[in-house]
Amino acid sequence: IMTEGDRTMKVQTIKVELAETLKAKPNGAHLDFGTIFTDHMFLMDYKEGEGWYDPRIVPYQSLTLDPAAIIFHYGQTVFEGLKAYITEGGEVQLFRPEKNFERLNHSNDRLCIPHIDEQFALEALKQLVEIEKDWIPTEEGTSLYIRPFIIATEPYLGVAPSKQYKLMIILSPVGAYYKEGINPVKIAVENQYVRAVLGGTGEAKTAGNYAASLMAQEVVSKDGFAQVLWLDGVEKKYIEEVGSMNVFFKINGEIITPALNGSILQGVTRDSVIQLLKHWGLPVVERRIAMAEIAEAYESGTLEEAFGTGTAAVISPIGQLTWEEKDLIINDGKTGEISKKLYDTLTGIQYGKVEDPFGWTV
Ligand code: PMP
Repeated sequence: IMTEGDRTMKVQTIKVELAETLKAKPNGAHLDFGTIFTDHMFLMDYKEGEGWYDPRIVPYQSLTLDPAAIIFHYGQTVFEGLKAYITEGGEVQLFRPEKNFERLNHSNDRLCIPHIDEQFALEALKQLVEIEKDWIPTEEGTSLYIRPFIIATEPYLGVAPSKQYKLMIILSPVGAYYKEGINPVKIAVENQYVRAVLGGTGEAKTAGNYAASLMAQEVVSKDGFAQVLWLDGVEKKYIEEVGSMNVFFKINGEIITPALNGSILQGVTRDSVIQLLKHWGLPVVERRIAMAEIAEAYESGTLEEAFGTGTAAVISPIGQLTWEEKDLIINDGKTGEISKKLYDTLTGIQYGKVEDPFGWTV
């Protein structure tokens, strides 16, 4: 396999070192999110001048890093999140994985991290998942969560792009992301903190965005809210995302989602939802939406549905939106028709239960 790093082409084969003892697999009926990790991981290193080298699958293990490694001080890092599903026939499926490696490189650009070879990374992922396929849980709603990530490892306290990196892929069997499953959640519109600003890193999947989101989440969860609805970082007027999901609203029959503006993450589920809605002949628009417009639609009785989209929860209906002390109860707090249809179709495609007209599964 050829990989391109630092303009030099090298032939790379993935070394495999299997674990001598395997861990006990968890009970698939009681899985949390992201607490258990499989027996093996993928690793690859980067050095300036050499490019990416030494791709290997090794037993899951701790890392030894210099305390001065740039990742610890300046957060130069990117990550991805996708899932492997097992079909009733026992086949292993990935959902649009090429989109995740494409987005990883998009994040790399923003964080001054060298590109990875997307095809090679996908090949490495397939090999890792093949080795770990017995870890894919089979219970309803469960899957194997895949976390590719890159960290800056050069020991250097100057603020500059690292000259050394590690790309890793770890795997974690997971249950449903939200305890509520497809049941609607309560969301608080965030008026104080912001997630991202234009010109910032909102469109990159990088640790700092998530560290910056913790405080808002902490505050609202005390009042029983599942997530916050993020508004734009300048005027706090326009809707951006919900928690770590993209967001959609159905107003008077039309489905609307905030247009990608540089501070919104380009969700793979968001893109899939837009394509599905178009495929069904439903009107879907990407544009700027003010929170005031949602409140007005609510008052006039035209706000029909609201939902978040993301790999973890797939579709997460919003039953209540609280903005400036006002509670907007959406669709009587129940899962809407479109939310349900999207959830059933997307999970149906992911688990190989319904036809995949787009060729999304790999
Ligand atoms: N927004 C943010 C901030 C996210 O972290 C995620 C999860 N990757 C999403 C949206 C949804 O993206 P996707 O559909 O690709 O999981």
